[in-house]
Amino acid sequence: MALNPAPTATRPTNPTFDVERARRDTPGTRNVTHLNNAGAALPPVQVTDAVIAHLRRESDIGGYEAAEAAADQVERTYHAIATMIGAGSDEIAVVENATRAWDMAFYGTRFQPGDRILTSHAEYASNVIAMLQVAKRSGATIEVIDNDHTGQLSIADLRRRLDDGPGPVKLVAVTHVPTQGGLVNPAAEIGALTREAGVLYLLDACQSIGQMPVDVEEIGCDLLSATGRKYLRGPRGTGFLYARRDLIENFEPPFLDLHAATWTAPDTYEIRRDARRFENWETNYAAKIGLGVAVDYALSWGVDAIEARVIGLAGRLRAQFNGLEGVRVHDQGQRQCGIVTFTVEGVTAQEVQRQLSERGVNVSVSLVDYARLDLPTRRLPDLVRASVHYYNTDDELDHLIEALPRSR
Ligand SMILES: *Cc1c(COP(=O)(O)O)cnc(C)c1O
Repeated sequence: MALNPAPTATRPTNPTFDVERARRDTPGTRNVTHLNNAGAALPPVQVTDAVIAHLRRESDIGGYEAAEAAADQVERTYHAIATMIGAGSDEIAVVENATRAWDMAFYGTRFQPGDRILTSHAEYASNVIAMLQVAKRSGATIEVIDNDHTGQLSIADLRRRLDDGPGPVKLVAVTHVPTQGGLVNPAAEIGALTREAGVLYLLDACQSIGQMPVDVEEIGCDLLSATGRKYLRGPRGTGFLYARRDLIENFEPPFLDLHAATWTAPDTYEIRRDARRFENWETNYAAKIGLGVAVDYALSWGVDAIEARVIGLAGRLRAQFNGLEGVRVHDQGQRQCGIVTFTVEGVTAQEVQRQLSERGVNVSVSLVDYARLDLPTRRLPDLVRASVHYYNTDDELDHLIEALPRSR
């Protein structure tokens, strides 16, 4: 059933952004209304072409020979990422996803009994599972930092926990933007406190990278993990870890191989000194090259311009939802981003997703099972997640509203 929504009074979003060009570069926009950018964004044709070109090169001249021929492009990926986050290229490891990047830093940290790990309600499920395993093995303890009244991580509570507690804080591991909501945690304020306290700070920037400026100096984090396929619009199966130069040698990666280390004599080895100690030898070169192209492509738009556009679209969508009976928006925080979560009264999130999919609209579902420190504490069920990117249009948002099942 199609209901015509009431005309919205909102003005067109960011009229100066060249959306036409963004969509010309993005073939997928001709097929679907893609509002699952927090799952995996549609790649620009430049990325897809670079990936395919390298696969073809491998097929034409051999895999090792193709890697050799494309060595500059592979190196470019490190420089592009470093440029985007304000780091050095020796501080970047490119790996197969963000979880593995995060793991290499986390499992490379040695915990003693009584060491405290501070984390956030926004934390990603895989990170918490790893913390629980390590806490069980090592005797470290996990504390969840309170949120403030806006729903973002409470700086006052973090300060209190850093100042005082039953043992030393070994690590602050928090998520910048949760997978299940539009919240942006105050990453730089957290960094100011961890620096003052001299405590290690690991930031999960999976959902923030590519949709807003992320600068490791401004934030003050020591380690940062991110993925390629979300707001960066890179290929699937890519991610990276940033590790601060003067700390790299303190981290013994949980796995070593002949790329991460050199076998210097029959009974000795030496671990590399740069961040590539967190990588492993065999890798998907085509995807790695594609990731670099995606980062350069984002830089060509400017991350500030991307953020302004994304925030404009998400704000418009929240306003549209707020005008609908039975629809509730659940995004928290003082600062919000392109992820919009909501429920429709009387209709499960899965059913909303299914009906939208039938109408050519891609959204996803944020499961309670993946957000146990967040959704249950807010007494929320599974949520529908519509995540916008700069190539989305006001017309697409109207289409979502029009295709939405009504509450019954
Ligand atoms: C998607 C996501 C991850 C995991 O990224 P992968 O590349 O799938 O490993 C981690 N943290 C957050 C906040 C995410 O949204």
